[in-house]
Amino acid sequence: MSVAYDIVAQEAASARALSALAPVPRSPIAPAQARLLASVAAFTHHRDTDALDHSLALSLAELAPARAVVLCKRAADGRRLESLVRCAADAQGLFCLHTGAPIADDPALEPVWRCMDQQQSFAETLADEHRLYVPILHEGRALGALQLESDTPLDGAHALAEGFARIYANYITLLNESERDKLTGLYNRRTFERHLQRLFDHPEPARAPHERRAGHAGPDNVWLAIFDIDHFKRINDTYGHIYGDEVILLLAQQMRASFRQADVLFRFGGEEFVVLLAGHDEAEARGALERFRQRVASYLFPQVGHVTVSVGYALAAMGDYPETVIDRADKALYFAKEHGRNRTHGYEELVRRGALAAEPVSTGSIDLF
Ligand code: GH3
Ligand code: MG
Ligand code: MG
Repeated sequence: MSVAYDIVAQEAASARALSALAPVPRSPIAPAQARLLASVAAFTHHRDTDALDHSLALSLAELAPARAVVLCKRAADGRRLESLVRCAADAQGLFCLHTGAPIADDPALEPVWRCMDQQQSFAETLADEHRLYVPILHEGRALGALQLESDTPLDGAHALAEGFARIYANYITLLNESERDKLTGLYNRRTFERHLQRLFDHPEPARAPHERRAGHAGPDNVWLAIFDIDHFKRINDTYGHIYGDEVILLLAQQMRASFRQADVLFRFGGEEFVVLLAGHDEAEARGALERFRQRVASYLFPQVGHVTVSVGYALAAMGDYPETVIDRADKALYFAKEHGRNRTHGYEELVRRGALAAEPVSTGSIDLF
């Protein structure tokens, strides 16, 4: 390359750099477009699916405009609806959000199923109401559907709702990937930390997002349980990592099959898992954990045979710090490991019978995360 060419190239580069700094003339933007852009920017700002769902329903209700917008989400197995987020105007015209679990075979949801099955939008007019159904499609699959309700025809809202459905589908797929562990599909540790923080900031029973709804009367306690696979190193050493990974994957399936919808399941790291269990009393929580432990112990893992887990749990009481609860559950787990493995122990139970010394209540503000 010649020197002269270098100088010309440098001058061109500095001219480009200067012009990059010059203010770009702005042409005015219509208020409706500005509102639309602000809405899209606001709803793609969220980093957790609950907040994203709420924001989508609210943005669409405001922009359509609609009296109500319902976001219906399909479960991963595709056979049932997992959650409903309804954003509806109250008597003062203010939008309120409600999250709930759909009732299985609810006839009112028939058009939602039709919309997802046919993967097509359609409108219908009831006695005093206009409705629009729009599928949320991703890679040939309907992840859910949007239902818009209005007193006036929703013709103008069609393209808007379909556009929002497309953005939502792309974004929710990315978010799901970042919230879940790749191997098992369970929530990952990052999500656990956020979930736990939220639980302690707003103490309410640990419910899966779709179980949460305003005024929901349900179990009033939460237990945090940690499982650790017993002698997992031996499995890796004897059969190799691929079989080790297979055990982790099958264990996660056992967790899904054993715990209730309302319990929240995480892969904490390696061969450790966490469950946030909602329940009325300790006996109920212990029963669920013991059922799971026994289920694993009696399951025949291909090639590897029998695998066991040790379980430690602690009550997540109001006023506790998350790190204190994790530490207690971990102490109970350690106790289970030290006393033969393949067993379940609760921190409070161990303290009650004097097997563990009670911890002084933590008063400092240690930041775990
Ligand atoms: P213990 O009963 O005391 O828990 O014994 P252990 O052998 O399970 O001991 P430990 O928990 O210390 O060892 C866990 C091992 O799990 C260490 C690590 O090599 C392995 N491991 C961690 N993550 C993975 C993973 O994702 N896949 C596989 N295959 N192995 C993993
Ligand atoms: Mg371990
Ligand atoms: Mg282990």
